[in-house]
Order: sequence, then C-alpha cells, then structure tokens
Amino acid sequence: MRIVVCMKQTFDTEAKIALTADGLIDSTGVTLVVDPYSEFAVEKGIQFKEKFGGEVVIVCIGDTQAETAIRQCMAMGADRAVIVTDPAMDGSDQSATARVLAKAVISQEPDIILGGFKSVDSGSAQVMLRLAEILNLPHVNVVTNIEIGEGKAIATRELDDGVELVEVSLPAIFTAQQGLAEPRYPSVKGIMQAKKKELKRLTLADLDIDPTSVGPANAKVKIHGLTLPAPRKGGRIIGGEIPEATADLVKALRDEAKVI
Ligand SMILES: Cc1cc2nc3c(=O)[nH]c(=O)nc-3n(C[C@H](O)[C@H](O)[C@H](O)COP(=O)(O)OP(=O)(O)OC[C@H]3O[C@@H](n4cnc5c(N)ncnc54)[C@H](O)[C@@H]3O)c2cc1C
Repeated sequence: MRIVVCMKQTFDTEAKIALTADGLIDSTGVTLVVDPYSEFAVEKGIQFKEKFGGEVVIVCIGDTQAETAIRQCMAMGADRAVIVTDPAMDGSDQSATARVLAKAVISQEPDIILGGFKSVDSGSAQVMLRLAEILNLPHVNVVTNIEIGEGKAIATRELDDGVELVEVSLPAIFTAQQGLAEPRYPSVKGIMQAKKKELKRLTLADLDIDPTSVGPANAKVKIHGLTLPAPRKGGRIIGGEIPEATADLVKALRDEAKVI
C-alpha cells in the first residue's frame, strides 16, 4: 500500500505571534515545526504501513526550511519524500497550493492520501478538499478513525452529538482531526536513518506547471488584513464571607461573563 501524506511546515504552536509594520506575520526567530494536524496524518500513515506493508511518502510544498520537518517525519518512520520548492509559489493561495499538490501527489500513484483537516497557522481547511476536487477522488474530512477493507475504507467522523461512519472506495483522501493517531517520538535510530532517506526536490517546471499560473496575481483568495486578539483582561478576586462571595460570583458569571 502506498500512503501519501501531505505535510505542511508551520510555526510552533508555542510561538508568540507578532505582526510586522505592514500587518503580516513576523516570522523572525519563530521555530518551525510539522503542522500538528499533518503530524496526526503522518502517524496514521506509518501505522497503516506497519499493518499492511508498503511505504509512506511525504509530499510538501515549502522552502528549504521545510526539509527539517520532512526529516522529522522520516525519523518517525516515513520512507521518502517529495518537496516542491519554487519562488513562484510565494504569495500563492490555497487554490494554487492544491493544484501543485495534486500534480505531486498523483505522480506517486497513491492508494490512500492523508493530510490535516486544517493547519494550525493559516488554518483555512481548504487545501485537502480542493485536492480531492482536482483529483476527482472521494474525500472524508475531520476523521478520528479509518478502517481499511478490500478496495474500500470506513472512516469515523465525530459530530457534535454522535459519530458518523462514512464508506468510500480507494484511493481516497482523508483529513485528520485530533485523535486520529497519537504521533510517536522519533527514536535515535529513526533520526539516524532519516538522514539517508530519499528526498526528491522538484520545481514547478518538473511538474509541468506554468509558474505564471500561481502566485499573488492568480490568488482566488486575498487576505485583507491580520489582527491579533485583544489582550486578556486581568482577573478579579471576589472577597468577603463565603455566602456573600458565592452570591457575588454567581451574579458575575450570570450578568457579566454571561456563561450561566
Ligand atoms: C493571498 C494569499 C497569499 C499567501 N502567500 C503565502 C506565501 O507567500 N508563503 C506561504 O508560505 N504561504 C502563503 N499563503 C498561505 C498558503 O497559501 C497556505 O499556507 C497554504 O495554501 C495552506 O493553506 P492552509 O494552511 O490554510 O491549509 P489548510 O487547508 O488549513 O491545511 C490543511 C492540510 O493541507 C495540507 N497542506 C496545506 N498546505 C500544504 C503544503 N504547503 N504542503 C503540503 N501539504 C499542505 C496539510 O496536510 C494541512 O494539514 C498565502 C495565502 C493566501 C490566501
């Protein structure tokens, strides 16, 4: 079974986000990591390989920094990777990302395609859906389990008040929700092996994609601005004797916080 996992590199979720003077995210000094939702997908892919045999191929669009994230996936157990790096991708939106991913993914002749349902940075939850549309493949999003059968799979989606089981024929695309799989820590042996695994570097030309068809000029989505959340207000200590303090607390929760 060939399992292709689309992996994006993102900011560390612990990173303190600041904006530049022109309103963009300031990436200076920010640690980059494997997008956590992509990482659930990588782990699930490795578990499938361990159960059914085959290989896990990571596909990533990113610059050379993203190679660190790819090596981490390899250290976890992914077998090889394809990275598409091209300056023409700067300023590309999710539509272009999906179009480029589609070419890279399909060139691997996958039996199953996994990714995150959203990323933790721009988090548009669009890329894998668009990928499914372009490749004309079945797609189940926000899954917490996948059972593979003969030429088909049954995926579990968690709903607000229950679960939904969805059956699709393979190949198909599944996007990971938290809970699909608990990512393993790479072993020292895995880290050493990762250094020698195949990393194929492609440009848009290698995928027969016209560089002028991507980039800001072709973006279907335009970001008009980013703002940081308002700073949190400090807490308030409700003093006094327990009966009065309890009444004051209930009043504050009901009238001010409006949570009860
Ligand atoms: C107008 C505009 C300009 C932009 N300019 C830039 C730019 O210059 N540089 C830049 O880095 N980003 C840029 N972005 C953001 C970039 O388009 C998105 O990061 C990218 O398309 C993924 O979108 P997302 O994180 O919202 O994906 P989501 O749909 O939230 O991601 C879901 C899953 O899709 C897969 N996936 C997403 N992106 C990739 C990827 N690159 N490789 C492999 N798998 C992936 C992963 O499995 C991920 O977990 C721009 C976006 C817009 C709208």
